[in-house]
Amino acid sequence: PADRLKGFEKPTVWQEFTPLAAQMQAVNLGQGFPDWPTPDFCKTAAVRAIEENHNQYCRSAGLPDLASALATHYSPLFGRTLDPDTEVTVSVGVSEGLFAAIHSLVNPGDEVILIEPAFDIYAAQVKMAGGTCVYVPLRPPSPSSSTWSLDWGEVAAAFTPRTRLLLLNTPQNPTGKVFARSELQKLADLVRAHPRALVLSDEVYENLTYPGHEHVRLATLPGMWERTLTLSSAGKTFCVTGWKIGWLIGPTHLIRGVMCCNQYVQFSVATPLQAAVAEMLRRAQEPYMEFPSYYAWLRDEYMRKRTLLVDALRTAGLEPIVPEGGFFIIADTSNIQVPPRYLGESTPASPNPMSRDWAFCRYLTLEAGVAAIPPSAFYKEEHKHLAKNHARFAFCKADASIVEAKARFLRWR
Ligand code: PMP
Ligand code: GLN
Repeated sequence: PADRLKGFEKPTVWQEFTPLAAQMQAVNLGQGFPDWPTPDFCKTAAVRAIEENHNQYCRSAGLPDLASALATHYSPLFGRTLDPDTEVTVSVGVSEGLFAAIHSLVNPGDEVILIEPAFDIYAAQVKMAGGTCVYVPLRPPSPSSSTWSLDWGEVAAAFTPRTRLLLLNTPQNPTGKVFARSELQKLADLVRAHPRALVLSDEVYENLTYPGHEHVRLATLPGMWERTLTLSSAGKTFCVTGWKIGWLIGPTHLIRGVMCCNQYVQFSVATPLQAAVAEMLRRAQEPYMEFPSYYAWLRDEYMRKRTLLVDALRTAGLEPIVPEGGFFIIADTSNIQVPPRYLGESTPASPNPMSRDWAFCRYLTLEAGVAAIPPSAFYKEEHKHLAKNHARFAFCKADASIVEAKARFLRWR
C-alpha cells in the first residue's frame, strides 16, 4: 500500500465488533444502524424511482430534483435562499462528502482540529490528505458541568496560524452532546480570529435532538456562512444507512472545490436513490402517524427508545450519561470488574491495543451476549485512557432488541 495508508492497515472497531456480535449472536447495540424496517414511504419512493427509469448516471453534483428539494428544505433552516446549483452538492453519504471537502481544502501540513471523542473516519481522512490532526478532548459531565464540556483554554491553544479546519459534529457521535449556541459562538469567534480557518460541520443527527436541546447550525451564526460547509445525509433520518445519499451545503466558493473533487472521486451518485430522497424530503414535512410531520414521529420514537435503553443499562449497573441528541449512549462501566483474561495480549485476529474499554466490550459481547463499541476508538493514542471506563451503546434498534438486551443483562449480573 501507498505511504498514505500507513497506520490504517489494522481492522477498524467496526470490522472487529460487527462480526463478533454476529458470531456470538449477541444483541448488537454496537454499530449504529437501525435494525427495524425502513418506513414504507421511503421504500415506495425508491421502487417508484427505479420503475420510472431513473437508472442512469446523473450530474456529478447530484440529481437536479434532489438539489432543489434540498435547497427548499434547508433554506428556512439556514435563514437564506439557497441556490440549488451553486450552494448544494450531493455526495456518497457524509463519509465521502467529508473526504471530498477535506481533499478540496487541506494542503499537506495544514492543521485540522478534532473534538474528541471524534468519529473515527475524521482523523484517517485528514491524515490521508496530508493534514495534521490537533485534538481537543471533551470531558464527561461532572459536578461542575451538566454536559460534556471543553476546556476553552485548550481549545484556544489548538488554534494556530496553520489551522485550516475545525471538524465539528453536533449532535455528536458518540457522546450525544448537542452543542449549545453559547459554545458554538465561542468556537465561531476563534474561527473568525484565524484568517485561514474554516469549518466542516457534520450534522448527520440534525433531526435527533431531545427536549431542552435545540440543534443550532454553526453556519447560521454571524460571519460563519462563508466559512462553513455543513454536511448531512439521509441514512439516520430515514433509516436507510445503506443508501449512502449525502449532501453538503455552503457558500459557492467552498462548494465549488467539493464539486471539482467529486467529478473525479464519486463521478455520480446512485440516481434512483437520489430521486427517492427528493421525494422523501417533500413527504416528510406532511403529517405522519398522527404526528405533525415524519420528523416529529422520528424524534418521539427515539425518545422512547432512549428511555428503554437507559433503563436496561441501569439494570446492569452501567450508569448511562443520558444523551441530548443522536442515537448513542455512553455508559460508565466502572462498577464492573473486567476479568483479567480479557485484558491480556492482543491477538492477530484482534490486534487493536487492548485497553480497558476494549476488553470490557469484548467481555460484554462474549459473556452477556450484548455488543457495544469501545469509545477509545474515537481518541488519539495519548488520550485513549479518557475512555477506559466508558462503552457506547446504540438505541437505533427495535424495541424488542433493547428489551432482549435488558433480559440478557439481568441474566448476566
Ligand atoms: N458522521 C457521523 C458522526 C456518523 O456517526 C456517521 C455514521 N455512519 C457518518 C458521519 C457517516 O454517514 P454516512 O452514512 O452518510 O456516510
Ligand atoms: N455511524 C455509525 C456508528 O458510529 C456507523 C459507523 C460505521 O459503520 N462506520 O456506529
